Amino acid sequence: MKLPYAEPYRIKMVESIKKSTIEERKKWIKEANYNLFNLKSDQVYIDLLTDSGTGAMSDKQWAEIMLGDESYAGSRSFEKLKNAVKDITGYEFFIPTHQGRAAENVLFSTLVKEGDIIPGNSHFDTTKGHIEFRKGKAVDCTIDEAFDTDLYHPFKGNIDLKKLEKVFTDNAIEKVPFIVITVTCNTAGGQPVSMKNIKAVSELCKQYKVPVYFDAARYAENCYFIKEREEAYKNKSVKEIAAEMFAYGDGMTMSSKKDGLVNMGGIIALKDEEVYRNAITYAIMFEGFITYGGMSGRDMGALAVGLYEALEYDYLASRITQVQYLGEKMDDFGVPVQKPIGGHAVYLDANKFVPTIPKEEYRAQALAIELYIVAGIRGVEIGTILADRDPETRENRYPELELVRLAIPRRTYTHNHMEYIASALKGIYDSRAEAKNGYAIVWEAPIMRHFTVKLKKI
Ligand SMILES: *Cc1c(COP(=O)(O)O)cnc(C)c1O
Repeated sequence: MKLPYAEPYRIKMVESIKKSTIEERKKWIKEANYNLFNLKSDQVYIDLLTDSGTGAMSDKQWAEIMLGDESYAGSRSFEKLKNAVKDITGYEFFIPTHQGRAAENVLFSTLVKEGDIIPGNSHFDTTKGHIEFRKGKAVDCTIDEAFDTDLYHPFKGNIDLKKLEKVFTDNAIEKVPFIVITVTCNTAGGQPVSMKNIKAVSELCKQYKVPVYFDAARYAENCYFIKEREEAYKNKSVKEIAAEMFAYGDGMTMSSKKDGLVNMGGIIALKDEEVYRNAITYAIMFEGFITYGGMSGRDMGALAVGLYEALEYDYLASRITQVQYLGEKMDDFGVPVQKPIGGHAVYLDANKFVPTIPKEEYRAQALAIELYIVAGIRGVEIGTILADRDPETRENRYPELELVRLAIPRRTYTHNHMEYIASALKGIYDSRAEAKNGYAIVWEAPIMRHFTVKLKKI
């Protein structure tokens, strides 16, 4: 008998979330200038803005909060975290940071110089930002299949070896200080990278003597997908898979707000002592002394426990199943979603959902606003507003995909919440023919406009 899916935990403490009426939400979103970032959390019923730092900690993590050692140097909490990182990654050297982009800031300060080229699989915005800020260039070498949303490929985060080798041969190799493999690939929709691909990339990089670094924000989810989708790994534990994966690289940066199962924190872990020696100067300058790096002792303790919990098979199966369940339910309703469903979010395809709204009127944003007004659910636009203007012509850039991302926080919402989200979207989808008008920009910032943009209804 195949038993149904159910969460491998029960609830010990609850946090109230507020219901509201359509009339209230219409008023609030207008006051927020039709920008979902401007809403107060109490105006939101189910918050799917991000899965970053929004998960629930366990009783064991809360116990570690009480055990936190707040000594400036050499705290027990630091030792716990250092041992956990070494045990999981195999990397000898560890620097804590206050979040993922801070880890990038510290590591790239020592590795990236003007004119450098850093290939990878669709670098995350902050990763790209930290490369470009240092006048380097991030080159996307993701496989072509990743850009076809209707095509099924089990590992759409994979790196195209030919594209990668071309970067090595077209440029002076000393201009390529390292490559970044992002697991899972956030920008490609939470799509995983296969072990076969990681191994092949690592071998190619060895030939050219180019180090390999992981952006490991969702490495545990990636290892779960390897176990589920790569035959050779089906009998290995997720922790064993992680150990093999990290062995193919030279180090990693990580936002602990994802697979660290904490609300704030970051990690740098390194094989090479010289890189570590160079990085700690920047760590002290930007983050704090090397045994706390922007984190309090109690938070390091909670992270040490969270890292292990995030590798537990039952936890991962429940997490990924919940996201897949929501995606498949919407698919059954005919609601257009990006496929295959990734690890941490479901993406609505606004071009297929509301083609009746002109693209000049920000159809993905219009859909995200409608979802909020109808059901109190907050997602985020990944479309024209996010894509911003061309720096030269100042014209809007219209990306190929207009998406609304519904990111699912870890261990936070129940099965019933997923049913509620899917039903709300079915309702909106069934009356989609009525959607005609979108929004116009009233005010926008010169860069990163999506956070502060003001809109009006057309
Ligand atoms: C979130 C994230 C980061 C940045 O981490 P922060 O903790 O938000 O600073 C970097 N890379 C990836 C893949 C991420 O998802």
